Amino acid sequence: MIDLYSDTKSRPTEAMRKAIAGAVVGDEQQNEDPTVAKLLERVVALLGKEAAVFLPSGTMANEIAVLLHCRPGDEVIAHRDAHVFNFEGGAVAALAGAMIRPLDGAAGMFEVESLAAAIRPRARLTPKSRLVSIEQTTNLGGGAVWPLARIEAVAGLAREHGLAAHLDGARLMNAVVATGVSAARHAALFDTVFLDFTKGLGAPFGAVLAGSADLIAEAWEWKQRLGGSMRQAGMMAGGCLHALDHHVERLADDHANARLLAELVGEAATLSVGRVETNMVYVNVEATGLSAAEFNRRLIERGVRACVIGPARLRMVTYLDIGADEVRRAARITNDVASGR
Ligand SMILES: *Cc1c(COP(=O)(O)O)cnc(C)c1O
Repeated sequence: MIDLYSDTKSRPTEAMRKAIAGAVVGDEQQNEDPTVAKLLERVVALLGKEAAVFLPSGTMANEIAVLLHCRPGDEVIAHRDAHVFNFEGGAVAALAGAMIRPLDGAAGMFEVESLAAAIRPRARLTPKSRLVSIEQTTNLGGGAVWPLARIEAVAGLAREHGLAAHLDGARLMNAVVATGVSAARHAALFDTVFLDFTKGLGAPFGAVLAGSADLIAEAWEWKQRLGGSMRQAGMMAGGCLHALDHHVERLADDHANARLLAELVGEAATLSVGRVETNMVYVNVEATGLSAAEFNRRLIERGVRACVIGPARLRMVTYLDIGADEVRRAARITNDVASGR
């Protein structure tokens, strides 16, 4: 099966498995795990933040960020398609008691003007606008990259109005590799930022949330409350360190493979392919007369899997386990299904 469902499908390489198995470990909850400490040092330096905390997942990182910034009744402003609204089990409401103010905009990004219009003037009647969160790259937005100038404007406006800013950096390193804008340059604009190691970076577990020393001290309280404190987590952090050493620059290969996939699939007259900026290809299958679900069923029968995103949209994602050969084979099969072959 050529699984293009998501970059979460990557499996640890042999070398990564060795790094995991050989990691020096201690009790993470007591700050005694040297490999976790090393990872946090690396991420703090990479992001230019004061402190960081190791977490089992990006979802926990996003939710702890919301918990740090918001009190019950406060409002979180993010794109309508944001992971934090759509794929975290309603935790913004369930855990933080916060409200959601979804903004529209192309490719998972909103305009600065939309943010300006959404920030509420302080009044007794209204919820408090409290946090702005953006994704870099945008997930449901097709792996699109926020231009630095637009992030600066969004973060600047948030600051001007006394709002906190959070960067969902599940795929931040994809943006860094695609644009050359450093992770620290991004992170400087935000109060909190997280990196996920289980997406393009190809580790089986782990995320790091970074921010000021005060915020991260408080994040530790939430990590404990949520059951996110761990023991010999150096075995997890060892995979993440290996990913930082070996899997960052190669994200450029994933991006090249995604462009190749888009080019080949785009040759079918009935498939319309979205703009590829990083490792995601969005394919609209409407003109084939098949629903996205039926199209995907036919793909799966032939050994290719995509992710159904809407009634007529499929997402295909490239990652560590998907090389140019897999891309060519997947494209041929996709074009065959599109033309009823
Ligand atoms: C995957 C993802 C998350 C959540 O990360 P997990 O490690 O899967 O919990 C958050 N935000 C975005 C944009 C993601 O793609």
